[in-house]
Amino acid sequence: MAIGVVLASTMVHAADIDQLVQKRGDAGVELADQIWRFAELGYQEVESSRALQTMLKARGFDLQTGVADIPTAFVASFGSGGTTIGILAEFDALPGLSQAAEPSRNPRVEGAAGHACGHHLFGAASVTAALAIADWLQETGHAGRIKVFGTPAEEGGSGKVYIARAGLFEDVDVVLHWHPGSSNSASPYATTANKSGRFTFHGKAAHAASAPDKGRSALDGVEVMNYMVNMMREHVPQTSRIHYVITDGGDAPNIVPEQAQVYYYVRHPQAETVVGLFDRVVNAAKAAAMGTETEVDIEVMHGNYPVLPNHTLSKLVDDNLRALGGISYTKAENDFARTLRKTLIKPNLKLGSQRVIQPFQFRQNMGSTDVGDVSWLVPTVGFTTATWVPGTPAHSWQAVAAGGTSIGHKGMILAARLIGKSGVDLLQKPELIKAAAAELKTAQGPNFKYAALLGNRNPPLDYRN
Ligand SMILES: [Zn+2]
Ligand SMILES: [Zn+2]
Repeated sequence: MAIGVVLASTMVHAADIDQLVQKRGDAGVELADQIWRFAELGYQEVESSRALQTMLKARGFDLQTGVADIPTAFVASFGSGGTTIGILAEFDALPGLSQAAEPSRNPRVEGAAGHACGHHLFGAASVTAALAIADWLQETGHAGRIKVFGTPAEEGGSGKVYIARAGLFEDVDVVLHWHPGSSNSASPYATTANKSGRFTFHGKAAHAASAPDKGRSALDGVEVMNYMVNMMREHVPQTSRIHYVITDGGDAPNIVPEQAQVYYYVRHPQAETVVGLFDRVVNAAKAAAMGTETEVDIEVMHGNYPVLPNHTLSKLVDDNLRALGGISYTKAENDFARTLRKTLIKPNLKLGSQRVIQPFQFRQNMGSTDVGDVSWLVPTVGFTTATWVPGTPAHSWQAVAAGGTSIGHKGMILAARLIGKSGVDLLQKPELIKAAAAELKTAQGPNFKYAALLGNRNPPLDYRN
């Protein structure tokens, strides 16, 4: 009898974070499905942001909404004293990739947006983990604070950069985040820095056949600029990435285009290299305008630092991921995966790899994310789980499809459990945070001073209009 009483009281005090997360699993999945259906674009995520906020508010989180002059950005805080853990939550979708939860191409709403980067799972898992950590704080009476950052417009809107620039990460000791993927990995990784801009050329309209000498073509400006940048490619560091789309090429062939626009992204693993390359692209634009007797307006659209890995934190999260293990599919999920994989070009992972954790080794990712800026300010750690059928690339309809099924849900729950476990570990191990902070300081170098690559521009709230 006496032993039974002791055990019971021990159990109350040793609140099990994993159980607390799993208890909230069904509600988390429902939240993810809801945001998957909303599929709202960057800075327009009104319903998605509200759904996440509602869950946090119901658990007693204090909400700051509309932070950093972004209506859909928020910070939700719980607890007091001790360590402050930040958790990032994304929720924006991508244009044109609407897709039903089926293994063959079938838009749910023709031409509409879809969660092709899995940010519905990202937001829902982060919030689910935060709620469970709040439960844990309350049950244990442990000191500590949890802050959820609702970060809009990751896809080309740099939501986190404005939140970072506003100083909202200043009182945070460590940041946890994750990303949906097609494998399970907590290896340390870096991304590229990225800076983008819209170049709008202004010419003079005229009849293209009867008075071409009276016109000056804005499209010529765009084409000459592109030609120069394409020549430049031979003379840039090999790990650079420069890509563009012509967003306006004029209206009709018989009118000399009065306006034309090209939208550029410039990337490289080093932020200062990106700044230099972007300046060279700007020079090409100015020279093109001069040579075509047009004018050019340049608007910097977004800019991200490269993600700075933190090996101290990655090791902790990797250990926890290995303890939790990978994901197994039911027969129906395997059937779905096999059918879907027939639509992929040479999948780089085998079906079944969702069951394993990838080896712990540094990876250089050529994509970019606004998590980069956060990682230069606060020790930050991220990971991926297999929310998509192995071999699925991000930004594909196949990612939207799996993200709306139990395959996506399983990856999401694994992510929530891993954030929960790692968050509670960090609350209990201040020495680990100290080591992570020392690692960040060394990586920053002695003269580091944060300056957003996008300068002092305001959030481009209408960039998806
Ligand atoms: Zn993406
Ligand atoms: Zn993403």
